[in-house]
Amino acid sequence: MEDDHGIKFTCKTCGSHNLVVTHVWSTLAGSESESWREWGPLEADHLWRYDYQEKIEKDEDDNDGVERGDFGEFAEDDSDSEPEEYQVFEQESDPESDEFYVNCENCDREIEFGWSQPDRGGRIFPVECSDFDPREAWPESRYLDSWQQKGWLHTRDGQPGTGM
Ligand SMILES: [Zn+2]
Repeated sequence: MEDDHGIKFTCKTCGSHNLVVTHVWSTLAGSESESWREWGPLEADHLWRYDYQEKIEKDEDDNDGVERGDFGEFAEDDSDSEPEEYQVFEQESDPESDEFYVNCENCDREIEFGWSQPDRGGRIFPVECSDFDPREAWPESRYLDSWQQKGWLHTRDGQPGTGM
């Protein structure tokens, strides 16, 4: 019964079953670079939505005073799992500088993950999920070395192992 909701994940540190996906990106507004982040829960179907969004203040680096959950206006719709529509920022952005993180919701431990498609496409597969299969996942670039050490990188003929 406890397994019929949420993703098949149990944190080995705190026992939580919930994961949070965070997307960090920068925009160039004139000569100023702004950093933003948005985050939300990863669902059982390996899709996620961003419930919260905030600008990352530059002087925040040495003071991690992030208060999660303080942006209730972004979370008004919990009736379906459609991604929230955002105002699109009409500023230059560099997709290659985007960063994605998956963390345990409770203890904030970073969880390695891969994607169901190359170039960060498709779904997110955290490696600590019980149904994780590296043969069906493309590693997030930060974890390439780690995956290589685990022997999870494999030659492909350009297609993932499944038709997804
Ligand atoms: Zn945890």
